[in-house]
Amino acid sequence: KNYGLNELREMYLSFFESKGHLRKKSFPLVPQNDNSLLLINAGMAPLKPYFTGQEVPPKTRMTTCQKCIRTGDIENIGKTARHGTFFEMLGNFSFGDYFKEEAISWAWEFVTKVLELPEDRLYVSVYEEDQPTAEIWHEKMGVPRDHIVFMGKEDNFWEVGVTGPCGPCSEIYFDRGPEFGCDSPTCAVGCDCDRYLEFWNLVFTQFDRQEDGTYLPLPKPNIDTGMGLERLAAMMQGVTSIFDVDTVKAIRDHVCELAGVEYGQSQKTDMSIRVITDHIRSATFMASDGVLPSNEGRGYVMRRLIRRAVRHGKLLGIEGLFLKELVKTVVDNSKHEYTELEDKFDYIVKLLTVEEENFNKTIEQGLNILTTYIEELEAKGEKVLDGVACFKLYDTYGFPIDLTREILEEKGLAIDEEAFKDEMEKQKQRGRDARGETNYMGSDETVFHKLDTNLSTQFVGYHTLEVESTI
Ligand code: ATP
Ligand code: MG
Ligand code: MG
Ligand code: MG
Repeated sequence: KNYGLNELREMYLSFFESKGHLRKKSFPLVPQNDNSLLLINAGMAPLKPYFTGQEVPPKTRMTTCQKCIRTGDIENIGKTARHGTFFEMLGNFSFGDYFKEEAISWAWEFVTKVLELPEDRLYVSVYEEDQPTAEIWHEKMGVPRDHIVFMGKEDNFWEVGVTGPCGPCSEIYFDRGPEFGCDSPTCAVGCDCDRYLEFWNLVFTQFDRQEDGTYLPLPKPNIDTGMGLERLAAMMQGVTSIFDVDTVKAIRDHVCELAGVEYGQSQKTDMSIRVITDHIRSATFMASDGVLPSNEGRGYVMRRLIRRAVRHGKLLGIEGLFLKELVKTVVDNSKHEYTELEDKFDYIVKLLTVEEENFNKTIEQGLNILTTYIEELEAKGEKVLDGVACFKLYDTYGFPIDLTREILEEKGLAIDEEAFKDEMEKQKQRGRDARGETNYMGSDETVFHKLDTNLSTQFVGYHTLEVESTI
């Protein structure tokens, strides 16, 4: 059946309410009393104190729909059908209350009875050493053995840092059909293509990892599950990607309207349309939770998302300030659940527009410098702009490198790509040296390592930009 995204959220939350869970509103995107995390990236993240026992939960069963940001997925945006930098994560949690059997059987009930998804298209992954879980799936839920896939630690074991609560997980996949598959002969559950869509992760926190690497069983194990609402909606609506889901498509359509382009005509245009659609959602939600664009931390994440959206707007030929138009569509599609969007509407528009104007100025300044470089090249009769100059434009002046590349190409010139890469690498190394070891927590650590690298690379750049422009 074709349910809207907002409807599906309600179905999930009320289902778990009927199983004795306390329903809570989403926590803000900015972590509270937790500086190990830049932005909330999973439903369990704001509940960490309940899992560690640091705080007593209001109820031992809870359910939420949590706003999430994963900047580490930024390179996937527009390329895969299933990633957004912003998404909503549905979750049910047990703090030392129920465990595997209930978690699995309720998940299965929701998927097969409430959503009525066909069982023959569902697959589950299980951690290779977690036989009991495989038995529950097979014996109790009736999932055939050839729909149960065993995976290693990397995919199906969840650990936060070196010590503390951890455990195996089990994920539910939906087979969207061979037409979504790739050409690999080994294409199966876990393949990176879009055929088998991972949509629900059930984490069984049953161990407490010790300093010496041993896993002690927790006296009261926990349950933490996470299901992407946009992915669920894409599945239920029978559409190709999260960008085709009703509430997201509304934004996508608005982008197309502003640009006077059609979706689905060319890969390059679609990529830009998706980037803008995704990034404006993230930026709007971040603004509503009090994040300000800046040169560091989460403010820098926001700045990067806004600038990237504006940049892709230019690629699509959108003229003038346009973010404010899109903010309205984002808000209209989510304000029912997230009332802060409507309450702060004027503020959000203003904040994003100021940032957009600033970036436009940056582009103008960069263009002037690039023009000088080009004149110098042409005077010398050369064809390749050296890496240091390219890097300076990018890093010191915040001028997007693809813009440099494009403009040079138009004149029959090119970037010294190798030298540019070297400069980037040197910068990253400087960042690493300056940063030392950092210990991040969260369900997706790689996200933060990647993000952190990006941050340090660019931080110096925009910082310099500000210094120079005040001279
Ligand atoms: P993937 O392997 O597809 O990147 P994941 O294993 O990183 O997903 P989890 O950390 O297990 O995802 O998060 C739980 C659920 O949240 C996923 O099963 C998925 O439904 C959803 N989810 C994760 N990342 C994203 C994203 N970037 N955009 C939309 N939904 C997401
Ligand atoms: Mg991921
Ligand atoms: Mg995964
Ligand atoms: Mg997962």
